[in-house]
Amino acid sequence: MQSPLRGQMMDMPLLISSFMQHAARHFPTTEIVSRRLEGDIHRYTYRDAEARMRQLASALEARGIDMGERVGTLAWNGYRHMEVYYAVGGKGSVVHTINPRLHPEQIAWIVNHAEDKMLCFDLSFLAIIEAIAPHCPTVKTWVAMCDADRMPQSNVVSLVCYEQLLAEGRKDWQWPEFDERSAVGLCYTSGTTGNPKGALYAHRSTVLHAYAASLPDAMRLSAKDVVLPVVPMFHVNAWGLPYAAPLVGAKLVFPGAQLDGKSLYELFESEGVTFSAGVPTVWQGLLAYVKDHLCKFSTFRRTVIGGSACPPAMIETFRDYYYVEVIHAWGMTELSPLGTLAQLQSKHNKLSVLQQQKLLEKQGHVIYGIDMKIVNDQYEDLPWDGTSFGNLLVRGPWVIQSYFKGEGGDPLITDAQGRRWFPTGDVATIDEDGYMQITDRSKDVIKSGGEWISSIDLENLAVAHPAVVQAAVIGVAHPKWDERPLLVVVKRPGADLTREDMIRFYQGKVAKWWIPDDVQFVESIPLGATGKILKTKLREQFSNYELPGST
Ligand code: AMP
Repeated sequence: MQSPLRGQMMDMPLLISSFMQHAARHFPTTEIVSRRLEGDIHRYTYRDAEARMRQLASALEARGIDMGERVGTLAWNGYRHMEVYYAVGGKGSVVHTINPRLHPEQIAWIVNHAEDKMLCFDLSFLAIIEAIAPHCPTVKTWVAMCDADRMPQSNVVSLVCYEQLLAEGRKDWQWPEFDERSAVGLCYTSGTTGNPKGALYAHRSTVLHAYAASLPDAMRLSAKDVVLPVVPMFHVNAWGLPYAAPLVGAKLVFPGAQLDGKSLYELFESEGVTFSAGVPTVWQGLLAYVKDHLCKFSTFRRTVIGGSACPPAMIETFRDYYYVEVIHAWGMTELSPLGTLAQLQSKHNKLSVLQQQKLLEKQGHVIYGIDMKIVNDQYEDLPWDGTSFGNLLVRGPWVIQSYFKGEGGDPLITDAQGRRWFPTGDVATIDEDGYMQITDRSKDVIKSGGEWISSIDLENLAVAHPAVVQAAVIGVAHPKWDERPLLVVVKRPGADLTREDMIRFYQGKVAKWWIPDDVQFVESIPLGATGKILKTKLREQFSNYELPGST
């Protein structure tokens, strides 16, 4: 076979350091503003930030953090977290963002699996650090992300101050060039079956994702924007915003730990925020605040909402009362995370408002880079008619190929044309125009406030109680958290077991917010042919069930 003629263009690797180099050179005075844990507002420019990132990278190198080695973070959205993203990734090491809402045991498991060599944390997570440190032998340095005069005392773990660490670095250090396929970030999925699995992002996939995320029919980002990521930086890299904002030269505003309606509203107004992104739950708090206080947004004009289905009423409220456009989006940790976003096309102008609304309620249209299809259980393609639903498969340069350390084997499937696809575990329809709608998820995880609760973990714990014969956990609708766990139990005959006993049994064994809201005692739990609990049947049984205190 003949070989193709090679192009004669500059062969520059796609590396994340290029975002900050670009922003520092071409948007030098554009600001990054952060609400700090201390309560004050910190502000500096892209030029200042990039200089500190290089200095930190040099300090990490001097401390022996090699290329490919992992540095964990347990931190809110803030300028230091962003500095760690770039210093670690930009020097060729891997930033491992950890969800602090997990139980300390799970955090320790993840840190050990990732073999983190250093862990940088915000002071609000000191208790977690002290709990896990004795169980995490790979971590050689624990870095408290605070000023020197705020350094806490710890009898358990020896701490290094972030600012002192940074000061150890050289100011003239320059970003290295290396293979764009090198890893840059690691993010663990919630591990609905078995242990959590790591998605290991590459520089190339991250750069391509940030480009695509900025497009007009995606997040529509530009240098005119002031971007406030409410979605945490420990949740799939805040959906790529710390990369996309310097790419377009947008001002960045980080909310820190204060995600309540009042704090967010004040920051939106004081910093002139135009764009934000987050899960539906967080917007409930903001909407309740602006409604109660009769506030209007002066500059806030659009938000991406995803992570779980955005209620249609939320889209309407934002649009009709606050002139904020909601862009409903779907994605996954395994997709870096953006897959689809719901926006209209020119041909939809002739549709009625109601028809347009119906389209915008869907999870949306793919962005260039992602391809998708729906298939039946035999992996045969299903029609794009908006009503046939099937397993949603995706492929593209920012979709995972395998999990970190090959956990779980080969996650991809091969279709009849020999193409490789990632099965998302979601069930969806796709209409004639390519708009996808999630109808269900094949997994049984419970989504509470945008976070996942594993029903299997809770069931395993429940059946460990001596008075429990059988247990099942399902998600039931909750007005604030979307879903909360309900535990359904078959008691041992004659056993004296109460709801309170069961709830107490969970305390200390799982994160507080994982503990089921209620317990129902039943005669039997429906089982399928292979002895598995029929969750669908159970959900039907409790479809009108109201959790205590949910109304
Ligand atoms: P995660 O990897 O934690 O981001 O979770 C990904 C999963 O969240 C997807 O597989 C979906 O089940 C769910 N999800 C994400 N976005 C949406 C959405 N807009 N509507 C419904 N489910 C969603």
